[in-house]
Amino acid sequence: MTKLDANIEYLKGVGPQRAETLKTELGIFTCRDLLFHFPFRYIDRTKFHKIRDVHNEGESVQLRGTLRRLETLGEGKAKRLVGTLRDETGIMEMVWFRSVQWLEKSLVVGKEYIVFGRVSEFNGKFNIPHPEMEEPPPAPPSGEAGGGFDPVYPTTDRLTQKGLDAKGLRKLIRTLLDGLSAADIPETLPDYLLGQFRLSSRWQALNHIHFPENQAEVDGATRRLKFEELFFLQLRLLQVRTRRKDTMRGFVFAKLGDYFNQFFQEKLPFELTGAQKRVLKEIRVDLLSGKHMNRLVQGDVGSGKTVVALMTMLMALDNDFQACMMAPTEILAQQHFEGITVLVGELGVNVGYLSGSVKGKKREAILTQLASGEMHIVIGTHALIEDWVQFKNLGISVIDEQHRFGVEQRARLWAKNPAGPPHVLVMTATPIPRTLAMTLYGDLDVSVIDELPPGRKPITTMHKTEHHRLRVQGFMREEIAKGRQVYVVYPMIEETEKLDLQNLMSGFEALSRDFPPPEYQISIVHGKMKPGDKDFEMQRFVKKETQIMVATTVIEVGVNVPNASVMVIENAERFGLSQLHQLRGRVGRGADQSFCVLMTGHKLSHDGRERIQTMVQTTDGFVIAETDLRLRGPGNIEGTQQSGMLRFLLADLARDGQILAAARDVATQILEKDPGLAMPEHARLRLHLASEGKDARVWSRIS
Ligand code: ADP
Ligand code: MG
Repeated sequence: MTKLDANIEYLKGVGPQRAETLKTELGIFTCRDLLFHFPFRYIDRTKFHKIRDVHNEGESVQLRGTLRRLETLGEGKAKRLVGTLRDETGIMEMVWFRSVQWLEKSLVVGKEYIVFGRVSEFNGKFNIPHPEMEEPPPAPPSGEAGGGFDPVYPTTDRLTQKGLDAKGLRKLIRTLLDGLSAADIPETLPDYLLGQFRLSSRWQALNHIHFPENQAEVDGATRRLKFEELFFLQLRLLQVRTRRKDTMRGFVFAKLGDYFNQFFQEKLPFELTGAQKRVLKEIRVDLLSGKHMNRLVQGDVGSGKTVVALMTMLMALDNDFQACMMAPTEILAQQHFEGITVLVGELGVNVGYLSGSVKGKKREAILTQLASGEMHIVIGTHALIEDWVQFKNLGISVIDEQHRFGVEQRARLWAKNPAGPPHVLVMTATPIPRTLAMTLYGDLDVSVIDELPPGRKPITTMHKTEHHRLRVQGFMREEIAKGRQVYVVYPMIEETEKLDLQNLMSGFEALSRDFPPPEYQISIVHGKMKPGDKDFEMQRFVKKETQIMVATTVIEVGVNVPNASVMVIENAERFGLSQLHQLRGRVGRGADQSFCVLMTGHKLSHDGRERIQTMVQTTDGFVIAETDLRLRGPGNIEGTQQSGMLRFLLADLARDGQILAAARDVATQILEKDPGLAMPEHARLRLHLASEGKDARVWSRIS
C-alpha cells in the first residue's frame, strides 16, 4: 500500500465529514482519486476582459471587478439572485437561479472578485448567468514573475457548503502534493517512450496539471497524461485482441478457384477501386492465416462494399464452404439477393433468400438445401441466426450495416458450424471516425474503403425554408419530368411518434394534392405499416410505378434505387448528422446529377445550424463523422452508448485523434516485439497494467 492508496479521510484538512461528501459527490475515496481530480480550467491572472469589450453572446469571459449590488428578486420559481460587477470600464449584471441563499450569504458587496462565465443576452443587455466567483489571490511578492495559473476544480453545491469550493479543493490538493515526492508517483512509461515523444515525467505532469506556472506547463502536462491514458487503453485492447486471435482458430481458404476467378474475369462489370482491392487483400490475408477473421469493413455509402463481400463469399465457395449474408431489413436483403443472383447466377452459384416471411414449402426447400450443402450462398434477414437454420459447412458470415446488430447476434453466427466458428465480415456505412473505430472495435480488425468508384457526380445539397416550398415543388416537377424519382423523408422518433405520424400523413396528403394522379403516383412507407405493405409500396417505387416516395427513416439503410435523384428531408434540423448523411446516400447512385434538399424552420439552434451547414458544405462521410463527434461527443455516436470505455479523464476522442493514433502505433509495435511485455524496458508497463487490472471497470466490457 502506498501513500496514494490512503483513505482520503486522513489527508490533513479532510476528516470524516468532508470525506463522506467527497465520496458521495465526486467519487473520491483515496488520495489517488483526489490527485486525479483534474482542474477543468485555470485562472490566468494575467488575462482579464474589460467589461466594455464584451460584445458577443456565448463568449466565455474572465472579469475582475468589485461587487456593487446584490439582491434577491422574484418569488417561487422565478426567485433569483442578481448582482452587479463593476470594473474601470463598465458594469455587468450577473444572475443566479440556484443556491441563491448560500450565495447571498457568502458573497460580500464591496469586495473584489474574479468572475468567470459565459455571456448571454437578455432584453438587449448582456449578463452572465451562474458565473463562478473567486476572490483574487494575494498579489505576488514584488520581484517575482507574477505569472502562475490557479486551477479551478469541478465541485458541487454540497461540497461548496462544506467549504470545498474550487478554492477549498485547490488547498487540499496542494497539501496532498506537498506531502508527496517523485518516489510516490512512479513512472509508468519506459524512458525511451518519454524520449521519443518528448513527454514529461509522470511526477512532473501531475504537478503541472494542478499547479502550472504558465500555459506551456499546462499543455505539456495535458499531453503527457492524455498520452498515458490512450496508450494504456490501446495496449489493453490490443492484448485482448491478440489473445483472442491466438486462441481462436479459423478455417483456411487456401484456394482461389473457379468461382472467384470467373467472376473476376468475366462477370465483374467494372474495375475495382484501389481501396476495394486493398481491402480484399486484407481479407485474403486473414483467410489464409488460420486464425479466425472478425473484420469490420467501413465504407461510405456507395463506396462498393457489396462486391467486396461477394468476392469474399466466393473465396469460401472455392474452398467448399458455404456463405451467408445478413441484412437488417427485408428490403435490403431482397435487394442484395437480386443483385447478387444477377452477378453470379450464371456461374452455377446457388443463391437463396431467407427471411421470416419466407414460409411453408419454400422455406423447407431452402433449409434442406442449406443442410445438404446444395445451396452455396444464403442471403436474408436476422432469421438466418435462428437455430432452425442449419448449414452443411458454413465458412463465412457477412453482416451488412453492422450498427443494427449486437455482439450477441454475431456470437450466434459463430455457433453455426460445429467444426469451428465461421469467419465474420461486418460491413458498415456509418462513418465512424477512425479514432473512435480504433477504440470501439477492440474485437474487430478494421478495413476502410476510403474511395468512391470513379465518375460519381457529387450530390448538390441545398438548405431551404418553408417560404421556398413552392420553388422546391417546382424543382421536383422538373426532375420528375426528366424521368427521375424523388424521396421525401419525414422524421419519426419514438417519443413523438403520434405527432410525427400525423405530420407525415398530412405531408403525404398535401403532396397528393400538389402532385395529383394520374400524372403523378406517390408511394408511402413508414414503420407502422405491415411488412408486406411496406414491401409492396417500396417495390412500386423500385419499379418506377411511382415517382415520389414519402417515407420515414425506414429507407435510411441501404436501399438502392439508382433512378432516384432527389432527396427532400423535412424538418432536417431534427435529424442527427450521420443520419442525414445516410439518407442523402440514398441518392447519387446513378449517373445523373443528384440533389438533396434540407427543409427546416427559420429558427435553428446553434448545433442545428452547424449540422445543416456541414451537410451543405461536404459529402465526405469522415468529415461529417468528425463534426458529429465534436457536436455530440463520443458517447452519443450510434453504437457507442453502451460503451463505458469512452469515458476518459482528459483525453477527448474528438480532438485527440493524433495522440491516439501515435499511442496506437507504438502499442502495436511494442506488442509485436514483446507480446508478453517481458523485456526489462517494459517492466513499468507490466506493473502498471497489473495495478490497473484491479480496477476492472472498463475491461469487463470488452469481449
Ligand atoms: P455500399 O458500399 O453503399 O453498399 P454498393 O456496394 O451498393 O455500395 O455499391 C454502390 C454502387 O456502386 C453499386 O451500383 C455498385 O455496382 C457500384 N460499384 C461498386 N464498386 C464499383 C466500382 N469499382 N466501379 C464502379 N461502380 C462500382
Ligand atoms: Mg450497402
